[in-house]
Amino acid sequence: MTSGARRLTSPDGVTHTFDSGSFALELLLSGGPPPWDRYEAWHAPEDVAGWIAGSHLALELPIAKEQVKVGPAELKRLKEFRAVLWRIIPVLADGKPMPGVVAEHGLSPTGNELDIINQAVGPLPRTRLNPTGVKQWQTPITGTQILGAAARELVDLIGTDQVKRLRMCEGADCYLMFHDTSRPGNRRWCSMQRCGNRHKVGTYRTRHHTP
Ligand SMILES: [Zn+2]
Repeated sequence: MTSGARRLTSPDGVTHTFDSGSFALELLLSGGPPPWDRYEAWHAPEDVAGWIAGSHLALELPIAKEQVKVGPAELKRLKEFRAVLWRIIPVLADGKPMPGVVAEHGLSPTGNELDIINQAVGPLPRTRLNPTGVKQWQTPITGTQILGAAARELVDLIGTDQVKRLRMCEGADCYLMFHDTSRPGNRRWCSMQRCGNRHKVGTYRTRHHTP
């Protein structure tokens, strides 16, 4: 498995690895409001700890789930933030601007989404030097810090030119969204194993069945 990739099983039973290229966008893989609630991974606050241990946040420095402490109120805020991601990321990935589209879709025209994001930009997980001078996490890593890390990254992603690098997989019925960090910026698929391959097979069939 490459760094930052998660192993997913699609509805058609294909197992593949997917790298969202971003910790903030990775949160979308933990579930969401209906219809995404069927993928819910965060039923209780302690579920977040195990999930974070396998996330982009743990890439630079591994996180053990015992090092994470999330309270019920923090879980609620994380889920609220995630619901905002579900409302705005598909719109932005489609190349549309946020405020106008928010109004057009009948979503909150009051800037509520922006408030939730901005208020989430809080303290970040902290590192420290242990007695032998080696970098480690200052524990516990709290739900508020996890939210802060995701929100800060989101602001960098959608509030800058990087927003043009937001993508939704081009596969039919695939809603996986990612930050295209490839140098040429031409990533089209969630993974080559799944949608990239389905596309190749589809192209092959079309070529060989069209007179
Ligand atoms: Zn896909």
